[in-house]
Amino acid sequence: MQKHEYDGIIVGAGGAGLMAALHASRGGRVAVLSKLYPTRSHTGAAQGGISAALGNMEPDKPEWHAFDTVKGSDYLADQDAVELMCSLAPEIIIELEHLGLPFDRTPEGKIAQRRFGGHTNNETGKPVMRACHAADRTGHMILQTLYQQCIKQGVEFFDEFQVMDLLLDEKERRVAGVVAYEIATGELHVFHAQAVLFATGGWGRVWEVTSNATSLTGDGTALVWRRGIPLEDMEFFQFHPTGIYKLGILLTEGMRGEGAVLLNDQGERFMERYAPTVKDLASRDVVSRAIYLEIREGRGIGGKNYVYLDLRPETINKYFEKEGAKWPDGSPRRVTKEYLLEKLGDTIGFCRTYLGIDPLEEPVPVQPTAHYAMGGIPTNVHAEVVVDVQNTVFPGLYAAGECACVSVHGANRLGTNSLLDLVVFGKLGGQRMAQFIRQNDPPPLPPNPTARVEEELERLRNGRGKENPAEIREELRRVMMANVGVFRTRELLEGAREKIRELRERYRRARVMDPGRIFNQDLLEAWEVGNMLDIAEVTTVAALARTESRGAHSREDFPERDDENWLKHSLAYRRDDGAIELDYKPVVITKWQPKARVY
Ligand SMILES: Cc1cc2nc3c(=O)[nH]c(=O)nc-3n(C[C@H](O)[C@H](O)[C@H](O)COP(=O)(O)OP(=O)(O)OC[C@H]3O[C@@H](n4cnc5c(N)ncnc54)[C@H](O)[C@@H]3O)c2cc1C
Repeated sequence: MQKHEYDGIIVGAGGAGLMAALHASRGGRVAVLSKLYPTRSHTGAAQGGISAALGNMEPDKPEWHAFDTVKGSDYLADQDAVELMCSLAPEIIIELEHLGLPFDRTPEGKIAQRRFGGHTNNETGKPVMRACHAADRTGHMILQTLYQQCIKQGVEFFDEFQVMDLLLDEKERRVAGVVAYEIATGELHVFHAQAVLFATGGWGRVWEVTSNATSLTGDGTALVWRRGIPLEDMEFFQFHPTGIYKLGILLTEGMRGEGAVLLNDQGERFMERYAPTVKDLASRDVVSRAIYLEIREGRGIGGKNYVYLDLRPETINKYFEKEGAKWPDGSPRRVTKEYLLEKLGDTIGFCRTYLGIDPLEEPVPVQPTAHYAMGGIPTNVHAEVVVDVQNTVFPGLYAAGECACVSVHGANRLGTNSLLDLVVFGKLGGQRMAQFIRQNDPPPLPPNPTARVEEELERLRNGRGKENPAEIREELRRVMMANVGVFRTRELLEGAREKIRELRERYRRARVMDPGRIFNQDLLEAWEVGNMLDIAEVTTVAALARTESRGAHSREDFPERDDENWLKHSLAYRRDDGAIELDYKPVVITKWQPKARVY
């Protein structure tokens, strides 16, 4: 076992982790630990854009952005946090630009923007161009830019180190460090530090059809949960409307932002019925439900469970003409193949590669795909982890990005608001951490810091059981897709809870085939199944308790939103015997009282 001393540890090298590292490293020695090589983090897969009310293309203001975010969240977001994020958005985009991020430009040289779901002009209710983008590689550019800046600033990186435990000083209830597994050698490392920030991303892999990379198994979220930290709003998980049929690979909402439309078996643009004002650019929860309903009513393509996404210029231009759509300079809005290739080249390439379909020539089969975790580790706006209804801060513990719940997304996130969340709260968290590490020394390490991890890995390597972890994982993903998906009922959720308990029992007897130490992916994936089971169970239990429909949580047995009883965040706690206990805390409302949500 090797030991390292730092002031601060950042777990995760996506947009949130790198932004935090950049700012935290101004306060002391900071190391970033990542199970992936940093630029392979999922942030690099983000295509469509990052929101900010710059108003470069047409009138816009941060206050409209904030209202859209609150409405998109189905009024569950904390409005103070939303207002802060949206008001900081314009300056943080300029900060990214100054760090070197190559945004697309307008002809006069300003940062170009496009439309995205749920972002509107609050006076007309029509979609507004608010998403800043670098073609359809926005996340890739953010990641490359921040990584270069971290290297320049001397942030230290431990690449391919998988963090497996959080170390606490139990007496003082303070953070003492983390335990990590070096993937290349199988060796355990203890990182002793007074502050730790988790930025481990989401957990879409818990569902069978997902847009998320294989690595997104909720490690950070699950391991802090096992150390007694509650999880907030876990019942809210977003399904993105346009995953490639069966594969789940994401086709960015930027396609609809550029004019693509959804069509059913009758060639009807069905979103006109569900959201008459913004149509295909309604919030994701609304569009995903509409697709499911079309399929259920037999209007999936050929009666199957998918619909078409049509990006052909002739289709787009037909609807633009019908609506009288205009460019900012007043000229009629039309697109060409060349224009679409320039704006959406990667996404068009995915369709060609994975489906053999050229979306400029043919419509593409799509279905909703598990995409984004609105819930997670509860934090305040400084990314400090808070552990109870009174928002008491846990000293030295931070979380930012998708693994955290601030909460700015409430029950449903708007597209392009995640990249914004990463950089805003990554930065605020990094700054707060810099202050903390200047003022505090680390507490002593607990005795036997690696004991818990060693025991777990030993069981998976050399236990007596014969259960195959990969089979458990696939059964889990199937039941989550079928029972804890876009539409839910009590029966479905209870069925899932039973199944998860059975799988958990079997997981106790799980054993890997490869007992080796070097690049033992078999072992690491088996360990990740444990995290997925924890996350799935919390999600299901919180969803069962919430007897209303709000945002992405849609209960067919309770179809209405119930503000009287449920305008509150859930907090799930793990009791010592493993049982889950739920508590609730109020939503922060500043100026927008809940209203009916129509698009
Ligand atoms: C295909 C796709 C497209 C998207 N497009 C957009 C978009 O256009 N706009 C938008 O706003 N949002 C978009 N999103 C959402 C957004 O990209 C993510 O929410 C965001 O990138 C998450 O960033 P993060 O920094 O929290 O984590 P990630 O970028 O996911 O990084 C997680 C990091 O944690 C590390 N890690 C995880 N577990 C461990 C462990 N046990 N030990 C050590 N390290 C660990 C990983 O190595 C990685 O470095 C998209 C998401 C997907 C999947």
